[in-house]
Amino acid sequence: MKGKRIVILGGGISGVGAAILAKKQGFDVFVSEKAHISDADKNRLINADILFEEEQHSKNLILNASEIIKSPGIPDKADIVKEAITNKIPVISEIEFASRYTDAKLICITGSNGKTTTTQLIYHIFKQAGYNVGIAGNVGQSFALQVADNKFDYYVLELSSFQLDNMYEFKADVAVLLNITPDHLDRYNYNFQNYINSKFRIIQNLTSTDSFIFCADDEQIQNELSKKTINAQMFPFSVKNEIPNGAYKHKNQIHFNINSKQFIMENSLLSIEGDHNIYNSMAAGLAAMINNIKNEEIKKSLSGFTGVEHRLEKYIKVRGIQFINDSKATNVNSVWYALQTINDPIVLIMGGTDKGNDYGVLKDLVKRKVKAIVALGLDNQAIFDAFEDFVNVYDTKSMHEAVKTAYQIAYEGDAVLLSPACASFDLFENYEDRGTQFKNEVRNL
Ligand code: ADP
Repeated sequence: MKGKRIVILGGGISGVGAAILAKKQGFDVFVSEKAHISDADKNRLINADILFEEEQHSKNLILNASEIIKSPGIPDKADIVKEAITNKIPVISEIEFASRYTDAKLICITGSNGKTTTTQLIYHIFKQAGYNVGIAGNVGQSFALQVADNKFDYYVLELSSFQLDNMYEFKADVAVLLNITPDHLDRYNYNFQNYINSKFRIIQNLTSTDSFIFCADDEQIQNELSKKTINAQMFPFSVKNEIPNGAYKHKNQIHFNINSKQFIMENSLLSIEGDHNIYNSMAAGLAAMINNIKNEEIKKSLSGFTGVEHRLEKYIKVRGIQFINDSKATNVNSVWYALQTINDPIVLIMGGTDKGNDYGVLKDLVKRKVKAIVALGLDNQAIFDAFEDFVNVYDTKSMHEAVKTAYQIAYEGDAVLLSPACASFDLFENYEDRGTQFKNEVRNL
């Protein structure tokens, strides 16, 4: 529709991609970024003849939009978003917008933990099988930009709750819901149900020919499903119960069954370790089967996937001590799985910006497996309060100090695990920076 004005709030990867797609569709496009736009992104906007502003949101240029595409990083509480809503301007996400302009099949993954791992794993399986597939959402390039280039027949999309919040007409072909545990509650009025509702948007608009893959062992998911009728083919996965149409673990084997197709795989052949990764592998295997990838191809890819950096990444051994980088573990649940997975005695480096963590769920595992905790953060009081009664806790304020301290405490055969349970922003740029600094310090030991 010519003459329609699309305003994009946020000039990062998704915003610039959305702008380029909108321009290609012939809309009047404007990008507004409150902070700084990188030189590379500015050049891309200039080359595409797209107007933009930075370090400000000019109301007169924004509130005349027919539709606003908002970056997932901008909360609804931001003044400009509140004003847009008051002015009844539809606010959507880049994913919602881009999905209007592609016929590709969309395999969409959400959950509190495991999204990136599962998204990358599905992408790996599709790619190895020779499919013309792209990866987008919270990972990789912008979805909109790839749609603008009309590149792929399939997309594997990692969707955060923030993206799902501004999706309305969007429909997945295959929706994957991995798990739901409390996270990001600051953006949901500290109401867990709001966050659950957001995650469940992954199934909105599904039809009877679409598929819904979900974790049958997850209490929140089951509870929510008991309230809903879902108009899609359902493929649950479980490590606890046999599933006739889905995937499950029985003894040391994983069984995959969908409709009349099936295969069995030894658990030990999965290349990524830990119970959480059994879930991720089951979800990925089902998504691949639904899309008619051959069993042998799926098995090969589930065995050959190398994992994703900063997620339980076995880095190197120094003096017989295994250093493991799990910097992406930014909530308690992912630390729980890390501790569960590792069998060697653990020196645990944890801490950072606490999002109101309840460390109680970690106590049993810490008692059984952790010989010492190295707290790493500007304010480590909550970690001392939670654990110092039964394990030594050390106070550190830099990665250098934390790695040195852990190295002094650990012996040959131990593991030093960075699995923070917290966001990284008190001392680091982001979790990648935290993980990279960890590895640098380990290399320098
Ligand atoms: P997300 O993209 O949802 O943040 P990642 O794949 O990046 O998920 O993993 C984040 C953290 O959660 C890592 O520490 C990882 O080891 C852990 N993790 C991965 N999959 C799961 C899962 N299914 N359940 C719980 N924790 C998981």
